Amino acid sequence: MFWDKKIETISRSGLERLQLKRLKSTLAGINKNVPFYKDKLKKLKIKPDKIRNLEEIRNLPFTTREDLRANYPYGLLAVSLDHVVRLHTSSGTTGKPKAILFSRKDIEQAADLIARCLVMTGMKKNEVFQNMMSYGMFTGGLVMHYGAEKVGLLVIPAGPGNTDRQISLMQDFKSNAIHITPSFALYLADVLEKKGVDPRKDLFLKRAYMGAEPYTEATRNKIEAIYGIDVYNSYGLSEMNGPGVAFECPEKNGMHIWEDNFLVELVDPKTNGPVPEGKEGELVLTTLCREAMPIIRYRTGDLTSIIPGKCRCGRTHRRVSRMTGRTDDMFIVRGVNIFPQQIERVLMAIQGVGRNYQITLDSLDDMTVKVEIRKELFDGKVDHLVNLQNTITEKLRDEIMVRPRVELLEPGALPPSEGKAKRVLDNRTL
Ligand code: AMP
Ligand code: ZN
Repeated sequence: MFWDKKIETISRSGLERLQLKRLKSTLAGINKNVPFYKDKLKKLKIKPDKIRNLEEIRNLPFTTREDLRANYPYGLLAVSLDHVVRLHTSSGTTGKPKAILFSRKDIEQAADLIARCLVMTGMKKNEVFQNMMSYGMFTGGLVMHYGAEKVGLLVIPAGPGNTDRQISLMQDFKSNAIHITPSFALYLADVLEKKGVDPRKDLFLKRAYMGAEPYTEATRNKIEAIYGIDVYNSYGLSEMNGPGVAFECPEKNGMHIWEDNFLVELVDPKTNGPVPEGKEGELVLTTLCREAMPIIRYRTGDLTSIIPGKCRCGRTHRRVSRMTGRTDDMFIVRGVNIFPQQIERVLMAIQGVGRNYQITLDSLDDMTVKVEIRKELFDGKVDHLVNLQNTITEKLRDEIMVRPRVELLEPGALPPSEGKAKRVLDNRTL
């Protein structure tokens, strides 16, 4: 199903023409109205009206998170305040937040992209959508909400947490779809189990939209099996509207990134050079339709690859693979570069492993992986616990080349996560 078939299936040449037109008008706008960009373009002697093709994007400067912070709060605004109707911020953990300002047209456009995503996965007007993402400055709440309303769904702005109320809402209003972080979906599954609610029989869910943080295919499979639903990967970041940047279609093989709104590049994070299709690189995005706060060549920090070839669904917008991590997620133990996703991939494929885990970095040479395991394994016998502990340790060592300390915990022992999970506790920098 399509929300806007014409644009979703536009020919590649048509799409590229549209991108070039929008890129030029974006550049002309920021060159006129945003001193930060005007100075940069001037230094590089770039004249927006002289740009002939999309490849020339490579001559433009990157925009980094630091640039956004340095220009907080209004520095990157391209319109006067009377055109600005909303503020969102990005969920940074340190320093000043990154402020993202939206005009009415930007809000409409963001909602339209969400509508594309939801309809693509089969959502129809008469369905009930429970949004379990935070409704504050975080875009996962409001941006998704507006898009879901645009489709005509009944939207329940439940927000995160308050698990008992979430369950009653899902039961009373027969919610068909939820928008949730993977960590909260796993936690909710624990609570459902404790309450004796079988998500496959006692709920009405068909789909979950899951994103806001990286997770593995194994976690998706696990959540699909527990709930008996289809889980669709949803990627976005506040700097680019929030959710609705890239989303899986029913093929569930990569996320279509809406290229009429975002010009996509993949760069090598070290050399900043282009990365070919199929190879992993850092996603760099340029907004093509933003009115209030256009951003060019934004270094998302997210690592992914472009999936070569056409998608069977007929959409022509290219697909990006599941994010493998962020350039700044990586940590080093004993000189080895490790991504949390490598650990999650191993854990979630082991029978007996439960729903939550945490990595603590104790020194430059030591890491501990705390893993919740299934309730039935705590039956007073120690043999299988020791075996499981050894299996986990060995499989992790095979993957990351470092032997971690592994602690097995009962379900619910780790702090539950209602928003984005904190998977790595780095005690070395505290
Ligand atoms: P925020 O701006 O607070 O919404 O955070 C955006 C960041 O969350 C992105 O840059 C990614 O690092 C991460 N993120 C969002 N969705 C996903 C996803 N589906 N898979 C992996 N990481 C994600
Ligand atoms: Zn597709």
